[in-house]
Amino acid sequence: MNIEKLIRPSVLTMNAYVSARHEIKGDEHTFLDANEFPEGDWNRYPDPFQTELREKIARQKGVNAENVFLGNGSDEVLDLLFRVFCTPGQDRALQFTPTYGMYRVLAQLNDVELLSIPLTKDGDLPLDESLENYLENCQFKLTFVCSPNNPLGTLVKLNELIRLLEYTSGLVVVDEAYIDFASAESVINLIEEFPNLVVVQTMSKAWASAGLRIGMAYAQAEVIEWLNKVKPPYNISGPNAQLAIQKLNETSHQSAIKELVRRRRTLRSALAKLACVEFIYPSETNFLLIKSALASEIKTFLNERQIIIRDRSSDVKNTIRISVGTEEECDRLVKLIQQFENEESTVY
Ligand SMILES: *Cc1c(COP(=O)(O)O)cnc(C)c1O
Repeated sequence: MNIEKLIRPSVLTMNAYVSARHEIKGDEHTFLDANEFPEGDWNRYPDPFQTELREKIARQKGVNAENVFLGNGSDEVLDLLFRVFCTPGQDRALQFTPTYGMYRVLAQLNDVELLSIPLTKDGDLPLDESLENYLENCQFKLTFVCSPNNPLGTLVKLNELIRLLEYTSGLVVVDEAYIDFASAESVINLIEEFPNLVVVQTMSKAWASAGLRIGMAYAQAEVIEWLNKVKPPYNISGPNAQLAIQKLNETSHQSAIKELVRRRRTLRSALAKLACVEFIYPSETNFLLIKSALASEIKTFLNERQIIIRDRSSDVKNTIRISVGTEEECDRLVKLIQQFENEESTVY
């Protein structure tokens, strides 16, 4: 596979910004190159390639540091993928819906046409000969697969992903924002075999660090190099990189993730008993997608009582999406929806 053929021509020929410190290792030098203030706690620019954090993440994921790119949240990673691979006003991208809303926002921002194909009702890829032909004809530069899916909560099957990788000529971006809550493994180990695979993850969900803005891309080294070429030179702040390292050192956090998954199951069974709940999608994430004819009424009722949830009816008819909170938050949520039902039945 020829990655260069996929690169946006203006990116192919541009000269990347080079800092005078690119080749310098260690901090025992006298730095008079970057117009920084000479004293202070955070007076220096951070490491542009976040070497320490990247090596730590690479070790934890069982890949080489050259296969890891870090962005200011995975939203930056996704934006950079558009900017490296898509020529505005010309190239096209594909998503399977319902899915994460940022793909659409970023496609529009980058003036890239984004086509949508619906997932099956179980959240699977609708793979058949006609889709294969369609993919071959359309030559999408980027194809987004969100697995586990936001908002459905479901995983895409491994064999389906592999088939998609096999007959897609552009890049397949697998967004695994919720993978650490899931029963399946990440597909990171497939990057060796598939040069067109980019796996995107984040510290914002299972790693309890949305405030740090750390997103990751895993891919073959050549793809990572292109992302490095276009990224803002100091896209991750020094304090954020340090705090991320501390968080990754917290071995106890794995059990906090398991605890949250248990709480998701408890919340699910409590909600399933409520009459106003028609259906709860199977979840491999830290949220539940709930179908109810009264979806928007429930949302308003909860909002008025200071509980903020998301109405997802625009994507999946009559649904609300609820994040799994603390035990107290879950209890309060269930009690309030019960109260909603009681009041509802006295009104009608
Ligand atoms: C939350 C979420 C992200 C996270 O974005 P960050 O910028 O890393 O906070 C990415 N993809 C999906 C599908 C998400 O739900």
